[in-house]
Amino acid sequence: MQSFLRKLNGIFARGSSDSSTWYPGDMAISEEQFNNYSFVIGSLFTYFNDLPEAKKLRFVKRVHQFRLSKKFHFIGLEHNNDKAILISSSAVQVTFGLNNYLLSHFRDIYILADAYHMDNDEELYIGHVAPEGIYLSWKHFMYGYSHKTDNINVAVHEMAHALLYNNFFAQYGIDSHFRMNYEKFSNSTGPILADAVANRRSYLRSYAFTNLHEFWAVSVEAFFENPKGLKENMPELFEALCRVLNQDPLTNDKLLKSKL
Ligand SMILES: [Zn+2]
Repeated sequence: MQSFLRKLNGIFARGSSDSSTWYPGDMAISEEQFNNYSFVIGSLFTYFNDLPEAKKLRFVKRVHQFRLSKKFHFIGLEHNNDKAILISSSAVQVTFGLNNYLLSHFRDIYILADAYHMDNDEELYIGHVAPEGIYLSWKHFMYGYSHKTDNINVAVHEMAHALLYNNFFAQYGIDSHFRMNYEKFSNSTGPILADAVANRRSYLRSYAFTNLHEFWAVSVEAFFENPKGLKENMPELFEALCRVLNQDPLTNDKLLKSKL
């Protein structure tokens, strides 16, 4: 399996040189659209409310484009544009510092009313990412954003998985900054993982140590939920995440380099 994945990575790595030079364009929006989006996003996202005006415009344009590029499926819930806007906002939050933010591999996003079972699996899921789509429980989406700073946010967690998948296993929408820096990130987190396993304790919840993919997703969750806590407790991990995502959530402006 490992060698197959490596081979797959090799193929996509070659294909990425073309796609990494393509960026989603800047789609114009009217003042009325901007105000409508701002109202919906601002009702839940402190991250958005803290942004200066110019960055709010960047955020809204990205949410607009992201939403239009996806098909949202509501399961056990009525179709609702505001929900689609809010879920798009989670993706835009995680990818705000990157050029390629559309997670183009994923066309379908499934929103379920509550936690759910998969196939014959006994376990209850609140979100997952599969090659055919991103799945989220709406109840738990709301929990993530209404309980700030507890380091639990399922949407951020799943968008982090989707970003990794999109850059290493998918064919389109690869972000060259992310790819290059994620490799450095995964090299630099070795000692952090070894230390947590040896000492059997960590600032991150234990689920982070299931495997490297979960370590990434749980770290990104903590990075956005309680950046101050993560920086104080795991400064090296915090800095590594700033580099790979090209943003610092502790600043109002968020972005590190405005042009990559
Ligand atoms: Zn996960």
